[in-house]
Amino acid sequence: MSISNLTSRISGFHRMSTAERLEAVAAFSGLDDATRAQLAAPGNIDTHLADHMIENVVATLSIPIGVATNMRVDGKDVLVPMATEESSVVAAVCNSARQCYDAGGFTTSVSGNLMIAQVQLVGVTDPENARLRILERRDEIAAICDRCDPMLVQLGGGFRDLEVRVVNSRGGPMVVTHLIVDTRDAMGANTVNTMAETLAPSVESWTGGKVFLRILSNLADRRLARARAVWPAEAIGGEAVRDGMISAYHFAEADPYRAATHNKGIMNGVSAVVLATGNDTRAVEAGAHAYAARNGRYTSLTNWEVTAEGHLAGSIELPLPVGLVGGATKIHPTARACLKILGVSTAAELARIIAAVGLAQNFGAMKALATTGIQKGHMALHANNVAIAAGAVGEEVAKLAAILVERRQVRQDVATVELERMRAGVA
Ligand code: NAD
Repeated sequence: MSISNLTSRISGFHRMSTAERLEAVAAFSGLDDATRAQLAAPGNIDTHLADHMIENVVATLSIPIGVATNMRVDGKDVLVPMATEESSVVAAVCNSARQCYDAGGFTTSVSGNLMIAQVQLVGVTDPENARLRILERRDEIAAICDRCDPMLVQLGGGFRDLEVRVVNSRGGPMVVTHLIVDTRDAMGANTVNTMAETLAPSVESWTGGKVFLRILSNLADRRLARARAVWPAEAIGGEAVRDGMISAYHFAEADPYRAATHNKGIMNGVSAVVLATGNDTRAVEAGAHAYAARNGRYTSLTNWEVTAEGHLAGSIELPLPVGLVGGATKIHPTARACLKILGVSTAAELARIIAAVGLAQNFGAMKALATTGIQKGHMALHANNVAIAAGAVGEEVAKLAAILVERRQVRQDVATVELERMRAGVA
């Protein structure tokens, strides 16, 4: 296994030990001893395990796990571990959850554990006929799928439904079969991919076409998690704050540029719990954003309304294909520990908590944005008045007001002193 200097074609790299690989990388990139030691230091997962999880491992990366407090979900208090590198994310959930805790916290539900696998069939001249020929085989298809995973069937999961669509593409019509499978407490990607691959030759033989892709859809719109909560107006700072937040929501609802940032804030919370529990962040993120655009225009994943009593009601609905088994969930010891902190016994319970965290996160972000804006507006307005009251005239008003805002001392006594300094040419 030789390593040529400054070539990325490192022969046998994948067969090296992690230490050997690190040496090779260090030689290539000219890493000093301190950098090599940093990369060689084990985190809370040993390199041997990491080496089995992905390919070409040289090191691990530790991300802080913070625990969100104040979360009450479906009448039960829960501590939520969140893995994130971004500050304020965990604090925002704690603060948001505290403000709706006394009003009952979060109420959640799920649509089920159903995942969709797609089988792409091309090259048929009569796609509508082919579609029906596939639909007629429903029982056979169910049996083929269930034979792929007897353990899943034993656990109460397995094939549930069949959908066949004709998709008109740039390359002509495609007959796309959807296998709808209950994957229970697994995210289910591998499970349904195996079913789609196993079924493919039969689909070809029934239709005379050619199957290309056989893989799950990350638009897991049959695996939705929902959460709702009411924040009493008095608990969040009054009606002005509430209305500012509603306006922030209206902005996100109407404008994809704002919606992307609004939903990114939601995913700050969602992805942090998904990552902490060893689940697939990309799968959840792809599904969430695709779901946000399901009606042809990208929009907010949350809804915000004012109740008859004048309180702020928030709700969220998004695909949450997460598992307690499969992927890294069972393998990564920290992910297992996080699931213990959560105390969940089903994937659906985990999804419900994650949806609640997403809603709390959105509340926190919208409130911060709306109130900071309101305060800034108020401060600027107020500073002008204070400047005028201190005797400022003409251009002095805006200049003095700006000084007061910058110093965060919008006060008459400060204004009087600063105006004197300004006139004396000190300021
Ligand atoms: P998996 O195949 O590791 O485990 C699922 C299997 O576990 C089931 O088939 C079942 O036989 C068994 N099982 C045991 N107890 C179970 C229970 N209580 N409920 C359900 N099944 C149980 O994992 P998976 O969930 O099929 O796949 C998840 C992995 O696939 C993730 O690592 C993900 O990153 C990866 N993946 C994702 C994509 C994608 O999102 N596009 C594509 C391919 C792979």
